[in-house]
Amino acid sequence: MIILSGGTGTPKLIRGLRKLVADEDITVIVNTAEDIAVSGNFVSPDVDTVLYLFSGTLDTSKWWGIENDTFHTNKALQRLGFNEKLMLGDADRATCILRSELMRKGESLTEATQQLSSRLGIKASILPMCDEKMNTMVNTQQGRMHFQDFWVGAHGEPEVLDVRISGIETAKPTKQVLAALESEDNVIIGPSNPITSIGPILALKGMRDILKKKKVLAISPIIGNAPVSGPAGKLMKAAGFPVSSIGVAECYGDILDVMVIDERDTVDENDFPGNVVKYDTLMTSVEKSKALARFVLEIL
Ligand code: GDP
Repeated sequence: MIILSGGTGTPKLIRGLRKLVADEDITVIVNTAEDIAVSGNFVSPDVDTVLYLFSGTLDTSKWWGIENDTFHTNKALQRLGFNEKLMLGDADRATCILRSELMRKGESLTEATQQLSSRLGIKASILPMCDEKMNTMVNTQQGRMHFQDFWVGAHGEPEVLDVRISGIETAKPTKQVLAALESEDNVIIGPSNPITSIGPILALKGMRDILKKKKVLAISPIIGNAPVSGPAGKLMKAAGFPVSSIGVAECYGDILDVMVIDERDTVDENDFPGNVVKYDTLMTSVEKSKALARFVLEIL
């Protein structure tokens, strides 16, 4: 079972999938376009969320960070007059310190993630989408800024003119990602941001050609004309897509075989570019995540 993931919507689906499929049989290809250096350490926010989900430590009230983490270092830095780009908890920071240490010794992000997975006792295969570093830059009416500065620093408030992922032009899927895709016919695209989470995965060299040969099922992160959470609406609009499940299908284009949209979605199914099915996609509990995961498995 292969799932393409960002750091919020798709992990909610994986939480349900884990109740139906053994962790060993789950491979998650994770977005790295939002990665950023924070206070000298390399943070891979979506990879970390997936790591914590599988190690059972994720703070599922926020869908980032570790449950009951403390923020002593972050607060001490604030007292020194230094505001970090991201709020890193102390235990969360430990993950980033070890990752950075491994990478300074020459390991790739993929190898460092394998190390972290094994040290956390994780049986699923968590694969960063690529090992190249990139930056998601948002051009706003207040100037060009890193995605994290827009979303965390500026609370997602500035009007977005366009989104560019610098470095994506030359990035390619890792050999581990290619091997995983080689051995699977079905791919699930979870309900993640189509511009900053799934878009970068699809933009990797050769990725769309590989996925065209697979059965690809996607779940829409947009219900009606708004995302469940996060800046997907603003970013889709800036990228020229309608803010709707149809807009999400347009982002994915011809790799898509079937899309699951929410049963509350009022979109006219005849306007849909491909196959569409409806289900309750609002995963407000483990049970609801599991029900959606079961529905997805039945379709596949
Ligand atoms: P990020 O990396 O933190 O931006 O997280 P993702 O890209 O993985 O997820 C963000 C997307 O998840 C948003 O566009 C939300 O609309 C979507 N999302 C969050 N929760 C749910 C849910 O319960 N159901 C659906 N359908 N989408 C969700």
